[in-house]
Amino acid sequence: MSRTVETAPTAAFDLVGLGWSPFFAEPFAPYAERGFLPGRVAVEHKIAYSVYLESGEVTASLAGKLRHRAQERADLPAVGDWVAVRQHPEAGAATIQAVLPRRSKFSRKVAGEATAEQIVATNVDTVFLVVALGHDWNARRLERYLVLAWESGAQPAIVLNKADLCPNVAANVREAEAIAPGVPVHAISAARGDGLDELRPYLGRGQTAALLGSSGVGKSTLINRLVGRDLLRTQEVREHDHRGRHTTTYRQLVVLPGGGALLDTPGMRELQLWGSEEPAGDTFDDIEAVAADCRFADCQHRTERDCAVREAILDGRLSQERLDHYFQLQQELAYLETRQDRLAQLKAKRSIKSATKLLNRHQPRR
Ligand code: GDP
Ligand code: ZN
Repeated sequence: MSRTVETAPTAAFDLVGLGWSPFFAEPFAPYAERGFLPGRVAVEHKIAYSVYLESGEVTASLAGKLRHRAQERADLPAVGDWVAVRQHPEAGAATIQAVLPRRSKFSRKVAGEATAEQIVATNVDTVFLVVALGHDWNARRLERYLVLAWESGAQPAIVLNKADLCPNVAANVREAEAIAPGVPVHAISAARGDGLDELRPYLGRGQTAALLGSSGVGKSTLINRLVGRDLLRTQEVREHDHRGRHTTTYRQLVVLPGGGALLDTPGMRELQLWGSEEPAGDTFDDIEAVAADCRFADCQHRTERDCAVREAILDGRLSQERLDHYFQLQQELAYLETRQDRLAQLKAKRSIKSATKLLNRHQPRR
């Protein structure tokens, strides 16, 4: 017998409040005809998913067909997805038959695999880009987060947290606005609860929000504030790990008291680290110091002659593991740069287009 996640009888879910809309209802129609139910993925477990249905929460596994037809992992359900669920009441089980098209998605390219895209959150409407005032906020990091946001299809909103620690909040708000023209900027203190009302408009019924930001900026504090501590405790799910032990996880898609949903997955948290990595120069001083002795100034430390880095690895001054990590980071940064370039090109193209339109408008047609 296969073990299932314990599911206490749960409250019904307001699907429209959770974001169900014609965008999903339309592609769902053929599944409705077959008697399937719409649901939203709330937790990704090791082998199953917790799904919110109108009637309550179920644990669902993947239908064989879906698993076999999936060309890549991006075709499989992720937290935030709307799915078509088939219930098998006689067996006390449910299966996910299909993943409905996504309005937005956050993903990361898995290093080393050419095509593997790991989806870490989907159908997010607003992504709060959280930075902490006072100490470490810098423009470049905020730009990276903006790229991630724009690429995802979600709308960014900048949250400057820890305003209580900062004597010149207004100047920081202006600076953020200059970096991200047109993006709303909110200065708050999650610890004190100041400014939270400014975030409510993003968190109403039918809306889904997520957070991006480096570790320590106050995301958990903010989430606790928005969700309410008591509610957060009730968000615990018990599941069995592969040894049959009980483990506790949190629901990754949380219904807020005001009706909206907040999405907080481990993958989003990793994306944060990834998105916020400083250029390798800061963290790989050891490698860069050795690299100064490479014969070629642009040495890639792979096959070049007289490479000081490879020599350092041969004689044990540097570890291969560390160099691999360095390569991986370089690759990810390069990937981000390309995405940033693409974004810049897109923006340039768009402004050329609108400039051309403007010009055409003032020119007599022939
Ligand atoms: P996370 O890593 O982004 O989830 O950050 P946490 O929520 O764990 O917060 C990191 C630290 O910052 C904790 O010690 C919080 O108490 C503190 N913190 C969070 N928000 C605020 C704030 O608005 N003001 C101040 N002064 N401290 C805060
Ligand atoms: Zn070298």
